[in-house]
Amino acid sequence: MSGSHLDWPFFEARHRARAQALDKWCEEQSWAHGQAGDDLDASCREFALRLGEAGFLKVAVSQPYGEDARPDARSLCLMRETLARHEPLADFVYAMQALGSAPVSLFGTPAQKEEMLGGVAQGRKIAAFALSEKEAGSDVAAMAMRAEPCKGGYVLNGAKAWISNAGVADFYVVFARTGEGKRGVSAFIVSAETPGFEVSERTPVMAAHPLGSLRFKDCRVPPDSMLGEPGDGLRIALGTLDLCRSTVAAAALGMARRAYAEALQRARSRQLFGGALADLQLTQAALADMATAIDASALLVYRAAWLRDSGQPRITREGSMAKLFATEQAQKVIDRAVQLFGGEGVRAGSVVERLYREIRALRIYEGASEIQQLLIARHDLRREGAERGGAKAP
Ligand SMILES: Cc1cc2nc3c(=O)[nH]c(=O)nc-3n(C[C@H](O)[C@H](O)[C@H](O)COP(=O)(O)OP(=O)(O)OC[C@H]3O[C@@H](n4cnc5c(N)ncnc54)[C@H](O)[C@@H]3O)c2cc1C
Repeated sequence: MSGSHLDWPFFEARHRARAQALDKWCEEQSWAHGQAGDDLDASCREFALRLGEAGFLKVAVSQPYGEDARPDARSLCLMRETLARHEPLADFVYAMQALGSAPVSLFGTPAQKEEMLGGVAQGRKIAAFALSEKEAGSDVAAMAMRAEPCKGGYVLNGAKAWISNAGVADFYVVFARTGEGKRGVSAFIVSAETPGFEVSERTPVMAAHPLGSLRFKDCRVPPDSMLGEPGDGLRIALGTLDLCRSTVAAAALGMARRAYAEALQRARSRQLFGGALADLQLTQAALADMATAIDASALLVYRAAWLRDSGQPRITREGSMAKLFATEQAQKVIDRAVQLFGGEGVRAGSVVERLYREIRALRIYEGASEIQQLLIARHDLRREGAERGGAKAP
C-alpha cells in the first residue's frame, strides 16, 4: 500500500478527521492575497478570520478555548503540512497564531488564557513571538532588551528584529532581560496598543510575509502581563520552540509534497524527444529521490510529534532532527521540481518558483540548520557522557 501517511500508526481518528476536513476546506478556498504592505497585512488578517471561523485555529490553543487539553503536536503538524501544501501564506498565518499563543497556552495563568486564547482561536486576535534581536538571533543569550520593575509593573526598553506579524499582531509575547545570565530573561504579553511600543520598520523578504523590527521606549506593562515568574523567559521560549520546531518541519514537508505533485504532473504531460519527460530514466531517478526524501521527512516529523503527545517532556533531539532534515530536503525537492519544469520553473508566479522562495527561510528561523545540528550532537554527547559516568558535553 502506498496510501496516505494518515494511515500511519502515529495518528488517531481525530487527527485523520482534522487533516481531511482541512484539506477539503482548503480546496474550496480562494487564496488570492496581497503581496506587500497594507494588502499583505489585510490578507493575513482575513486568512486568520477564515481559519478561525472554520474552527481550525482551535487546534492551536489549549482547552477550554481549544480542542485539546494542551496543544497537540500531531494536529499542529498536520494543519501546517496541509496548509503549506495549499497556500504557504495561510500556513504562515496559522503558524504565528500557534507560535505567538503557545507561551500563553503552555505557561499562562487562567486569567491570561481567558484574555488571549479565545480571540486567537477565532482568528480575531493576531499573535506574535518576539525573541530575536539584531545582535541576538542564534545566540539568544546575547539578548539586550531590558525590563525594569517600576511602580505598577515593568518598563520595557530596547528593540526586536525579524519579528513575524510585526504591524499585524494585536499582541506580542516579548522576551526581555530582568537580570543577568540564563535565569535573567522574562516573558511579557504586550498589547500592540501599549504606549511606548512601535513597529520601527518593515523588513521585505524574498517571499511575501509581514516581518519587521519593534521598538520599546519606556513601554510600561502591568505586572500581570508577565508570563510565569521573573527569570522564566528562556524556559518559556525554549518550551515553546520545543513544541513548534517539528511544525516548521511539517510545513516544509507540505511544500515538498506540493512541489513533488507538480513535478509528477509535469513529467507526465511534458512531451520531448518523442515521448514524455517521465519516460526518461534520469527523470525517474529524480522523482524517486524526491519521494524518498518526502517519506523520510514525514517519518521524522510525526515521530517527533507523536513522542511529544505521548508525554515525553522534551523532544529537542527528535524535533531538531525533523526540522533539520525536512527543511533541508524540502529545499532540494523543490529545487529538483524547478529543474524538471525547465524555463517554466523559474517563471515568476509559477507554483514551483513561489515554493522555491517560500522554503528558504524555514532553514533559518526557529533555529537555523546549524543550530539544530548543535542541539542533536550535544544531546547525544551529553547522553554518552552520562552513560560513562558524568563526562561533560562540549
Ligand atoms: C522569515 C523569518 C521570520 C522570522 N520570524 C521570527 C519571529 O517571529 N520571532 C523571532 O523572535 N524571530 C524570528 N526570526 C528570526 C530568526 O529566528 C533568526 O533569524 C534566526 O534565529 C537566526 O538568527 P540571525 O538571523 O541573527 O543569524 P545568526 O545568528 O547571525 O546566524 C548566522 C549563521 O551562523 C550560523 N551559526 C550560528 N551559530 C553557529 C554555530 N555555533 N556554529 C556554526 N554556525 C552557527 C547560523 O546557523 C547561520 O547560518 C525570523 C527570521 C526569518 C528569516
